[in-house]
Amino acid sequence: MTSKVERWPGVELGPKDIDSGVVTSVRYRPEAKFAWSAGEAMSRFLAELQQGRLIARTCNKCKRILFPPRMYCEECFRPTDAWVYIRDTGTIETYSVSYLDIDARRITEPILVGVVSIDGASPKMGMMHYFGEMTKDEIRIGMRVKAKWRAPERRVGSVLDIEYFRPLREGEQ
Ligand SMILES: [Zn+2]
Repeated sequence: MTSKVERWPGVELGPKDIDSGVVTSVRYRPEAKFAWSAGEAMSRFLAELQQGRLIARTCNKCKRILFPPRMYCEECFRPTDAWVYIRDTGTIETYSVSYLDIDARRITEPILVGVVSIDGASPKMGMMHYFGEMTKDEIRIGMRVKAKWRAPERRVGSVLDIEYFRPLREGEQ
């Protein structure tokens, strides 16, 4: 049997009690200014995105091309060696058809999101992104895609400088 609590012990307080000064309170507006460093590899990655390029790091020991770039090889436990540009084409590694938008609201026209393995990087080195110019019935794993870049003046140094990945067209590099 469950019982409903009619009245909780103690004294209930409301906004009026605080406004009228019955309850001691402190008003404080924090000056929440902060800065965040993306780090060496991510900073360069973002700067190159603004130029419409994808960049990776090579590791001379395991011979992998790491993308997104990182300054340390997690397999060899040593610093990576050099910067290398890779292509803006790739292959859909995995995807999801989402009926929720970024605020988790239900939508009728689904968003296509997933991971693209980028050409020139080692296998399974991918980036998560949106897919466009294709329907939920056309998208498939293994599909060849190319970045749809924003106009140069609209790029800000973000992964969203690529609007989405679209199908690679016949004869296109
Ligand atoms: Zn390595």
